Amino acid sequence: MDALELTSAANRNRSEIHALEKKSGVELTDCYQCGKCSAGCPVAFAMDKTPRQIIRLLQLGLLEEALASRTIWLCATCQTCVTRCPKEVDLPALMEAVRQAAKKKGIVAEKEINVFNDIFLQNVKAFGKSPEVILSALYNLRSGHLFQDIDSVPHLFLSGKAHVLPEKVKNTDAIKKIFAKCAEGGEHS
Ligand code: SF4
Ligand code: SF4
Repeated sequence: MDALELTSAANRNRSEIHALEKKSGVELTDCYQCGKCSAGCPVAFAMDKTPRQIIRLLQLGLLEEALASRTIWLCATCQTCVTRCPKEVDLPALMEAVRQAAKKKGIVAEKEINVFNDIFLQNVKAFGKSPEVILSALYNLRSGHLFQDIDSVPHLFLSGKAHVLPEKVKNTDAIKKIFAKCAEGGEHS
């Protein structure tokens, strides 16, 4: 690819990619592709694109390829990459922004992770935390894995780690405020 092609590629999807930068607080030009993030990422072995490659795709305007990647769903937000990055690029925030953008367009490369995330957040919104029984039951139902981990249910109840009736945190209003603020689309300043 020569310099002229690179320039025209980088201009593709500019406004959408700029919106992702704004939302995540990441300046894509900060990344000089050293690869330290990907070398330390504990989930990189399962990803179809390394974290470094996700940034490169966005630098080149190849938004569609980033949106279709499994990587944005597999990122565990562990922050290892941020601590290793010489430029402190906030990759997990970028992954989250790209994941939300993909979801808005109906592009979901990892459907089961999406189901799990949705149920987990619905639980937190309703109870202030995610009760294991509801999380597991709804996940098994919606994912179609009806009997997944069914063997561990008696142990969870007997050890007191799971309860039939879900417990709520005391200040559910504070939780609602956090969700309302997120729904406003809070951006990094
Ligand atoms: S460690 Fe930082 S600068 Fe290096 S490739 Fe990853 S994000 Fe880019
Ligand atoms: S935050 Fe995501 S991309 Fe960064 S090291 Fe952890 S799993 Fe990998």
